Amino acid sequence: AAARALPVAATPMMAQYWSLKDKAGECLLFYRMGDFFELFFDDAKAAASTLDIALTSRGEHDGQPVAMCGVPVHAAESYLARLIRAGHRVAIAEQIETPAEAKARGGSKALVARDIVRFVTAGTLTEESLLEGRSANRLAALAQVGDEVAIAAADISTGRFEVVAVPAAAVDAELARLAPSELLLSESAEELPISSARQIVRRPSSDFSSTSAQKRLETFFGVQTLDGFGQFGRGEIAAMGALVAYLDHVGTGGPTFLQPPLRHLASGRMAIDAATRESLELVRTMIGAGAGAREGSLLGTIDRTVTAAGARLLADDLASPLTDKGAILDRLDLVDGLARDALWRGELRAALRALPDAARALGRLVAGRGGPRDLAQLRDALGGARLLREHLARRADLPPLLAHLLPGLDGHGALVDELARALIETPPVDAAQGGYVAEGYDHALDALRETARDGRKAIASLEAQYRDRTGIASLKIRHNGVLGYHVEVPAKHADALMAPESGFTHRQTLAGVVRFNSSDLHEAASRVTQAGVHAIAAEAAHLEALTDAAIGRRAEIAASCDVLARIDVAAALADHAMSHNWCRPDLADEPCLEVTGGRHPVVEAALAKSGERFVPNDVSLSEADRLWLVTGPNMGGKSTFLRQNALIVVLAQAGGFVPAATAKLGLVDRLFSRVGASDNLARGRSTFMVEMVETAAILAQATPQSFVILDEVGRGTSTYDGLALAWSVVEAVHEVNKCRCLFATHYHELTRLAETLDALSLHHVRAREWQGDLVLLHELAEGPADRSYGLAVARLAGVPAGVVKRAEAVLAKLEAGREKTGGLAAGLDDLPLFAATLAAAPEAAKDALREALGAIDPDALAPREALDALYTLKHLL
Ligand code: ADP
Repeated sequence: AAARALPVAATPMMAQYWSLKDKAGECLLFYRMGDFFELFFDDAKAAASTLDIALTSRGEHDGQPVAMCGVPVHAAESYLARLIRAGHRVAIAEQIETPAEAKARGGSKALVARDIVRFVTAGTLTEESLLEGRSANRLAALAQVGDEVAIAAADISTGRFEVVAVPAAAVDAELARLAPSELLLSESAEELPISSARQIVRRPSSDFSSTSAQKRLETFFGVQTLDGFGQFGRGEIAAMGALVAYLDHVGTGGPTFLQPPLRHLASGRMAIDAATRESLELVRTMIGAGAGAREGSLLGTIDRTVTAAGARLLADDLASPLTDKGAILDRLDLVDGLARDALWRGELRAALRALPDAARALGRLVAGRGGPRDLAQLRDALGGARLLREHLARRADLPPLLAHLLPGLDGHGALVDELARALIETPPVDAAQGGYVAEGYDHALDALRETARDGRKAIASLEAQYRDRTGIASLKIRHNGVLGYHVEVPAKHADALMAPESGFTHRQTLAGVVRFNSSDLHEAASRVTQAGVHAIAAEAAHLEALTDAAIGRRAEIAASCDVLARIDVAAALADHAMSHNWCRPDLADEPCLEVTGGRHPVVEAALAKSGERFVPNDVSLSEADRLWLVTGPNMGGKSTFLRQNALIVVLAQAGGFVPAATAKLGLVDRLFSRVGASDNLARGRSTFMVEMVETAAILAQATPQSFVILDEVGRGTSTYDGLALAWSVVEAVHEVNKCRCLFATHYHELTRLAETLDALSLHHVRAREWQGDLVLLHELAEGPADRSYGLAVARLAGVPAGVVKRAEAVLAKLEAGREKTGGLAAGLDDLPLFAATLAAAPEAAKDALREALGAIDPDALAPREALDALYTLKHLL
């Protein structure tokens, strides 16, 4: 490292560095110097601390020492991976000419020209080593044109490209579903309340112009018009165009793989907003240590897929459950068929497990980063798919979805056969050394190899001849990069070969040995070399032709990969369901949720690890009894019960079996889950405000087809405020939204709502005090909890006995007081019914209200304006 050159103030190198750094913008600049990528100034400080490598400082700039660190080029990938994971983007500046070229251009002191050849960013990775095989890696762009907001999202490792137009209010929810690792916004776009993108990158607003975007897309896809892909709105085109422009920017012109855009139809999908995803931990955990991990999420717990593409599809399925009954039944029938036949399922899974990740191999080939190994992966995956199809076609009772998908595996016969003939069994990743085209594929190539082989044989026999002729038994013919083939003898025998008539020419004398050439050897050797060079060129030409053939069928190949992934997901869900006693859910037409023996898969798995048993619970919501108020002690299992039912809904509508003995549900259009503020401390934004904003969203959006779980709402504020809010939220959910709802609370007073709200019923998690200890049964029972057991929980938690004793005394006093005054809920007896308050607003006020409300465009309001509007509305009452 000491030999590394340094930029010094005001040198041409420094000037070059700054101009590159200017281009790199916010990205860290990897500046190539010999065998190292060097970083300077603040880049060096940031990289050194992330990578935990030495920060040196040498040379000066503006009188200050220049901070610098470097990573060796051969190990750059692992350093890049760590920088990207830590949220950095990196610009790679390579030498774009050789020192000799630089000299020829600008004299002996000329600086080697460098340029940024590529940006490495979280959303645009294609390197196998930087990608997580079992997760999609998405780049997204968000554009707004007029009223239309659209999100384009691409996984460039598989080429999957989707676009969706969304109402402004649903942007965050949609981004939460997509979970992009990088999100592009126009420089000029307003701040948006986005919680679900890991990294936001501002791009020039010209990238987002829909007219130039249209042209850019047409050029990118090589089409005259985008109409062949579907009809897109201007916002959608702008978003897609901005995404393509960014790919162009980071790849600096290199090819990237995108399939034609698919429009994601939000209409056939269950609406799940960002906060709900977060609290249900569908595909990654959100709370506590290890947040963001797949492990510990619903996905991580139930994923039994055997292919990487299957794992990616399962994540998509769970993130975006269906609302179309026919489509759900199709998936369920497939899972059911596979669940019933363990032998068949086992065979299918074994066949799938053997298949390489063809989607990503194709991605690398299209992106120009592919090699012989990738082609072999296509050969094996598509060949395997063909066998699978033949095997499946023989079955009489094929589930309809499978019968419908099967033809999607067809049509690769010619390509597979060609690849099978062309390539050896396990070709190298890199084409440079050749040797991957199979014997017998190309006679000219075979002949070249034959020539090379003959040459090598001739060389070997020369060695024997020369030993004979010279009588030197230790004579060897060797090969190295500098001399090529040569004769080598120990120094003590060299004299014999030095003689001119010996037929040898001296080449090199080293410490112990002397090296020679001979005309026979030279001739044989050049035959070998020439044939080798031609053979490598011939192989390269085949590689190119085969790659083109594969790329020409990329749409069909990608479609086949999707089919394989779908089969994998169904088989995995069936497998998990069978080993965990899950059941097929029934879909009803009326809004109901009837589950017997329901369980929470993640909690159950966690308990199983410590040998504990999960207590199954039933739920039975119907139009007549659609709101369950669940009370009971802390740690009694309320949250778990609420969430397990939300997860059952998600699993069912994703087309899978559910963790229950029986389950029947009416389709859910929107799913909401809210946890009281104090349960969310670890999230770092546990304000009561957030809780109320989220609650407001539910009250605004939940329909009679929705399912809502509310856990300890109102907990984040004072007792009276909290109780009052929880009370009125329950009333509103019951009277206005009329959705199915499970509401957990520790406000015992709420149980009085059962007297006035007829579709509400009371339930509690059971607990018992036994020999002074609290036993939590985690079992749901009808009726309100008889008491809160708060002190018993405190004792259980290890609060010192003296403190608990004192609390008992305080409690006794409080309860005595409550008895006299009617307690916390005193005075509520003469509260008018909620429905009555809604109806009682005088007509005139109602008209004024209606008019004022009509004038408000919620999407156009800033938070401050919204608050003002609320005050105005209140005055009208
Ligand atoms: P609450 O919301 O009432 O405070 P939780 O649902 O958070 O309670 O449950 C607390 C703990 O009790 C869980 O972490 C889990 O270990 C255990 N638990 C909850 N439900 C069950 C159940 N049905 N069977 C067994 N253990 C459970």
